[in-house]
Amino acid sequence: MITAKPPLALSAWGLMFLPMAGASLLTGLFVLGVSFSNHLAILSPAPLLIAALLTYAALLFLLGRSGLANIRALEVRAVTDPLTLMPNRHALHAQIAQLSRGDAEVALAVIDLDSFKQVNDHYGHAVGDVLIARCAEVIREVCGKEARCYRLGGDEFAALMSGKVAGTILEGLCRTLLDRLSSPIELDGRHIVVGASIGLARSTATARVPSSEMLRRADVAMTMSKRGGRMRCTWFNESFDRRRERMREIAEEIRAGIAAGEFRLAYQPLVSAESGRIVAVEALLRWDRGARAPLGPNIFIPVAEDSGLINPLGAWVLRQAVCDARRWEGITLAVNISAAQLRNAEFPIKLGEVLEETGFPPHRLELEVTETCLVLDPEVAERTLDVIRSFGVRIALDDFGTGYASIGFLRRFRFEKLKLDRSLVELAGVDEASRAMMLSSVALARALDMGVTAEGVETKDQAELARLAGCDQLQGWLYHRALSAAEIDRLIEAQENAATGSGEAGGTASA
Ligand code: C2E
Ligand code: MG
Ligand code: MG
Repeated sequence: MITAKPPLALSAWGLMFLPMAGASLLTGLFVLGVSFSNHLAILSPAPLLIAALLTYAALLFLLGRSGLANIRALEVRAVTDPLTLMPNRHALHAQIAQLSRGDAEVALAVIDLDSFKQVNDHYGHAVGDVLIARCAEVIREVCGKEARCYRLGGDEFAALMSGKVAGTILEGLCRTLLDRLSSPIELDGRHIVVGASIGLARSTATARVPSSEMLRRADVAMTMSKRGGRMRCTWFNESFDRRRERMREIAEEIRAGIAAGEFRLAYQPLVSAESGRIVAVEALLRWDRGARAPLGPNIFIPVAEDSGLINPLGAWVLRQAVCDARRWEGITLAVNISAAQLRNAEFPIKLGEVLEETGFPPHRLELEVTETCLVLDPEVAERTLDVIRSFGVRIALDDFGTGYASIGFLRRFRFEKLKLDRSLVELAGVDEASRAMMLSSVALARALDMGVTAEGVETKDQAELARLAGCDQLQGWLYHRALSAAEIDRLIEAQENAATGSGEAGGTASA
């Protein structure tokens, strides 16, 4: 490792020439002194002058040599990452520029570790540094002699290749790397699975791109890998740029929409599988965009999450939903919560404030979280969920059946409810394997003392199947679509009237 720092604020060449100039000056003064001195009792000054010149030459040689060595060390230091000793970002730019002068394809992979931040946060920076060094070893091993590898900074690495089919070979190496990084790495007795997301970009003789653009493209592709669920590699595609631009525009529109009050809530009832009565409502966000093309929450919520706007938006949803649901006595209110909200340390505090200010009974509130919310940072999520539960609020796992939730995962988070995703409910009606999965999911939830809701029930057959499987609540267009708060008022009133025998129940009307 190179740790020496230049003592003066001089360039490397300055550091080399300054001592040489000093030596020359001293020698010159000495020669002048000897030549013109009447006091030196020397018979002939010639041998003295020759000795001085020889010393001067030797000094120049030594200073020059050590100066050159210093310059080389500084140059190496400027292009080397001190922790991994891999070449750094400057070196990568230079290498891409050099390779781009030839005719061959140049392929670049940007590799970003998935769970590095959590390791740093939980075990400290010293362990984080060791992990980076270990991952660097793995990357070096996988790249071997075929690709050059670099550390770009933080938990970001790169691999570069050139050649006829560089892209294909590099993609193969990246897949091997993903495989290797999906196995636990042992660090001081801890086993850490770090994982990685990779973005790939290429430049060919007919379509050369500058190194900065190539790096940007690989970086954009890497972000797409992260968004797609991590542990994958993605090739850059021009459409990513258009998408990013559109996302940026939507984020701006959301910001303006919040200020202009364009958001509203709709509520979709959940009915009891046994009685068909409305037992809960789920708040679903809607955006009134006037003449502009409509956008559903599946589009705008991820943009709000990425831009951080989900925090003000989610806070508004929670307060509004609680205010509306206060009057729906005996009915549970379900509110969807994003990963970004759950990660925000302010969230439980804000939740506590809303409950206190509105006087909403916490046991009537259920927060719906998705698996991705929890797997990204399980320790933080667990702590936050514990605080939320301490208020008396329940937690439901939404969209179950779309991810990889294991039994261990379900036990760890002890959800009060499991919501079977619409895709599972739909497939269970047509496919034997999905039906088996639905049955075993319900059995598992029951064993862990969780309630089960089937989402997206559209047909009587699906409702019957879900009921037989053991689901206790059903939600779907067969019963009700998402309705305005005023429509929910009417439905609940009709239901109460029916119960007291003074009117008709809302039945299975949908709006
Ligand atoms: P989700 O929480 O799983 O909500 C259920 C979605 O399925 C809703 O879509 C609902 O309208 C739709 N749905 C319900 N029954 C049926 C059915 O029988 N058939 C079909 N085809 N669809 C049905 P929506 O309102 O578009 O919401 C989509 C997702 O957006 C929600 O999925 C939720 O993850 C998210 N979302 C909605 N509102 C919020 C919110 O306030 N905050 C957060 N963080 N996410 C929200
Ligand atoms: Mg939901
Ligand atoms: Mg769902």
